[in-house]
Amino acid sequence: MVLQDWHSHNSLCRHAEGTIEDYIKKAIEMNLDLIGVSDHFPYEYLEKSNISIKDIPYQEYAMRLNEVDSYLAAVEKLRIKYHNEIKIRIAFEVDYFKSQENFLNLQIEKRLDELDYILGSVHILHGKSKLFAFDDMRFLSMYKEYESIDNIYLDYYNKLQNMITSEKFTFDILCHFDLPKKYNKRANDKELVMNEAIKTLELVKRKDLTIEINTGGLRKDIKEQYPSFEIIEQIFELDIPILLGSDAHHPNDLGYKFNEILKLLKKIGYTELAHFKKRKRYFIEI
Ligand SMILES: [Zn+2]
Ligand SMILES: [Zn+2]
Repeated sequence: MVLQDWHSHNSLCRHAEGTIEDYIKKAIEMNLDLIGVSDHFPYEYLEKSNISIKDIPYQEYAMRLNEVDSYLAAVEKLRIKYHNEIKIRIAFEVDYFKSQENFLNLQIEKRLDELDYILGSVHILHGKSKLFAFDDMRFLSMYKEYESIDNIYLDYYNKLQNMITSEKFTFDILCHFDLPKKYNKRANDKELVMNEAIKTLELVKRKDLTIEINTGGLRKDIKEQYPSFEIIEQIFELDIPILLGSDAHHPNDLGYKFNEILKLLKKIGYTELAHFKKRKRYFIEI
């Protein structure tokens, strides 16, 4: 089976282990057909914004702005070096902030030609008292500030909807769709939250975006891929393209449980996965 991993990090983001080359070598060793190098885009541009970025340890979340171009150059060099052994794609995982979409776009736009795709994510909510990095362990106590977990889901899906419908923000693939479940936080009112998820998926469909099936969740408390089986069924119903990402923060995470997930996807009815090159989408059979 052809395995392609579209979501990987490296030590540049300060919370992943291994160099870019370590991940590429591991991917070759595992016989992956493709590795997408998609490290976190910087947050420090928010220092000049009205967002109180100091509330979160953003220095540990991503590379620096002054490392962006050397990152792109390094991956390009490795792409050439290993071109006979594996397909390498160059990307960023970008965190979306509505109030900063102009600046974000400015940063991304000037590098668009060098990118094969952009992962769009939301990891941070505007909490009640301060910014809430809801997928960072150190913020677990802040979950209490919300009356219920459902409100976190609704807030999160609302942010995804802003990102999807934004006229200014450019991205190709929506990441870890139901991320708030990470610390085993399931919705209370399942129907309410599912309806908001479906509303979000309909916007994804309208924008003709792709959704990542992220196996990182299988390594977290929730022990389940993002998104859930039920949501993947909805994605299939809406005929939205998907692809796989391990969200590797260690070379050993690459391709994590891809064979199992592919079986699940086939069971749902998927026969092909999306593929990106220079921001054009193609499909490969599974
Ligand atoms: Zn990360
Ligand atoms: Zn992420």
